[in-house]
Amino acid sequence: MSTAPTVGWIGLGLMGQPMALNVLRAGFPLVVHNRSRGAVATLVAAAPAEAWSPREVASRAEIVVTCLPGPAEVTEVYLGADGVLTATRPGMLLIDTSTIDPETHRRIARAAAERGADYLDAPVSGGTTGACEGTLTVMVGGRAEAVERARPLLQAFGRTIYHLGPVGSGAIAKLINNLMAAINLLGVCEGLVLAAKAGLDLDLFCRVIADSSGASRSFDGAAPAILARDFRPGFMIDLMHKDVTLALDLARQVGVRTLAGALAQQVLQEARNAGLGRHSTAAHPAGAERRGDGPAPRLAPVGRGGPG
Ligand code: NDP
Repeated sequence: MSTAPTVGWIGLGLMGQPMALNVLRAGFPLVVHNRSRGAVATLVAAAPAEAWSPREVASRAEIVVTCLPGPAEVTEVYLGADGVLTATRPGMLLIDTSTIDPETHRRIARAAAERGADYLDAPVSGGTTGACEGTLTVMVGGRAEAVERARPLLQAFGRTIYHLGPVGSGAIAKLINNLMAAINLLGVCEGLVLAAKAGLDLDLFCRVIADSSGASRSFDGAAPAILARDFRPGFMIDLMHKDVTLALDLARQVGVRTLAGALAQQVLQEARNAGLGRHSTAAHPAGAERRGDGPAPRLAPVGRGGPG
């Protein structure tokens, strides 16, 4: 008989599904819910119970974890008419792993506190590979006691757990991380397009860069996918655009100039306008091609690429 607390998991997308599976493998009884049902069916086949609403998840669990696209979905799932907060009891622990803004986290944390529950923001980095392998970096904001209570659960999908400060601190670190990754990625994509159009053998060029100062984690993630013309997400352009936009909002709030970030946001918007929003972030240069500099991109249906 398991003594681990029952975990309610909401959001079974590219990240949430493998993270939830790792939580299940670590021995936590799991109750799952997702907006569309396909992902639930896949996971329920691996044993956990299914719930039909965020409210039902909360009523059947001691800890609730969410992994959702953005602030609107997180707000609805916690504060909506059928949301987690409607069934939150004193002593519960609520953890959001989505990448969203700090203010939304603070609002939900206040509502949770009114019901005697703890709330942590715990966004993650490491992409779908890290989610599958349980090696994510977790950036946590919240009360130290709640972080310690959450630690065994967070370790089911995270290799390194950083406590950055009060609720919202994890989100601030994560948004800045993704701003930096998006700026790096812009450099990678510009460099590869330039190398190809200037006549270099792109495979050879990538081997040179891997051994040179132009390399980065963004390069390591995106270059193989770009070489293979393989833009299945991974991490979608729509989500990176959301993160960069939230990071720029944060910069505006604290009065910091983010020139390179604004440029990255515009290029991501161009890729979205070209219909590439649901492709991997490595599809950037293909978006540039679609604006008229070359043929429409060939989007191969295999593989993964780009940072996240
Ligand atoms: P996905 O879009 O693949 O997954 C989001 C999931 O949330 C979907 O399964 C979606 O269901 C579900 N969902 C949306 N709204 C609701 C709702 N109201 N109720 C219940 N379920 C809902 O995104 P990812 O998994 O890629 O990303 C999740 C979060 O993690 C994002 O905030 C992202 O920025 C962040 N992240 C992503 C990384 C990556 O590499 N992909 C890396 C690090 C962080 P439906 O099937 O109906 O769409």
